[in-house]
Amino acid sequence: MWLRQALAPGEEVTGGWLYQEGVVERSKQIASLYTRRMPRTPKISEDAAAESASLLPFDPVAFHRALARWYRLHARELPWRGMRNPYGTWLSEIMLQQTRVATVIERYSEFMTRFPTIDALAAADESEVLALWSGLGYYRRARMLHRGARFVSRELSGQLPASSAELRTLPGIGEYTSAAIASIAFRESIAVVDGNVERVLFRVLGMAEDRSAAAKAQITRVAQSLMPPAPSARAQGNPPGDHNQAMMELGAMICLPRGPLCLQCPVVKFCKTRGEHETPPREKLKSRTVAHLLALRKRGTTTEVLFQRRSIDASLMPGMLELPPLPLEAVASKEPVLRLRHAITNTNYYVQVFAESAPGVPPYVSSEIADEEYAPFVAAEEEIEATYDSELRRQVVSAERDLRWIATAALYTQPMTGLARKILQRMGVMALPKTRIR
Ligand code: SF4
Repeated sequence: MWLRQALAPGEEVTGGWLYQEGVVERSKQIASLYTRRMPRTPKISEDAAAESASLLPFDPVAFHRALARWYRLHARELPWRGMRNPYGTWLSEIMLQQTRVATVIERYSEFMTRFPTIDALAAADESEVLALWSGLGYYRRARMLHRGARFVSRELSGQLPASSAELRTLPGIGEYTSAAIASIAFRESIAVVDGNVERVLFRVLGMAEDRSAAAKAQITRVAQSLMPPAPSARAQGNPPGDHNQAMMELGAMICLPRGPLCLQCPVVKFCKTRGEHETPPREKLKSRTVAHLLALRKRGTTTEVLFQRRSIDASLMPGMLELPPLPLEAVASKEPVLRLRHAITNTNYYVQVFAESAPGVPPYVSSEIADEEYAPFVAAEEEIEATYDSELRRQVVSAERDLRWIATAALYTQPMTGLARKILQRMGVMALPKTRIR
């Protein structure tokens, strides 16, 4: 509504206008209109105005005017932005938790192609959903998303509820996700407070970064007092959704955890710290060395890989498939065919991969994909022999019932860990993703 108020009578802002051609010129025009015509008195409720005055040392309208102008000109084009699809917003917000945007871009499009609607996702097997999630990590998110989709499909005819309060009652949707969906897809005036928004507001207000519940509650109140009101049903545009995305974008692109780009910051004049703030010490990463077996065998014309299924009670990645772990003492005198580093939460894993075949037969690497690094291991498919009885295979401590051979052609449909996927891709057993990060 506050943007509409800036426009001339009869002038309309259409949905998705940020992403239409000529966006920069158009947004400059609108920004100047907005600057000229914005009423001095913000159209917010008296309660909200009183709340803002007690929490903020500046005018909230001036703050989000500066932020909105910057966002219109500098927002990244992301596949889930500029659309009004509650399911797409839900999916993107779940994927973006703890995962880099570049990784999510690739996986989001694959996921939406395979499961374009809530009903399509609900109808899938969990293993298929987990397989498509592979590489994003934190698989509980995928399980909860799937469970939530089943509930919405069965109980709500496939339609997500339109308010944050109702959304919070669904499986897997908490405070943050409900606010994101409600504001971005349904234009509710409710603040989204993620780590980026918290950091921006701590710095703007000159508060020390504080993880306590009391600090979180205060920051949430501040964030809410900055929210533009919900537009009327007939109004175009989405000020609440745009504002929330702008705040998150500011934290992700400008107010960086280390080295904020204050000279480029659109809200620098409202900021108390302007880069002069304490930065919490970086969390110390743990290191662990682990070893895994890459065992391949031939069944007719099919090549199969040996996997171990993780325990369903495991705290990390329960039920997922991984390459069988090897005790480090069993491989102490051997040379791995691959070394790589893989980070999970706060642990750096130094991974060694051992592949053993019958004497004289090198481990298999597809000659199409193998590069010079793997050239010594390239072998024609006919040369692959069973490694089932190999020395290393006997070192695998897993129970037989947890082990299974899976054809390479079926690997993409399997719920495997990100590390297993990475190893198989590096070794050329599994093709690299077709969609590359731009
Ligand atoms: S001025 Fe600097 S510290 Fe303040 S909000 Fe902007 S980027 Fe962050």
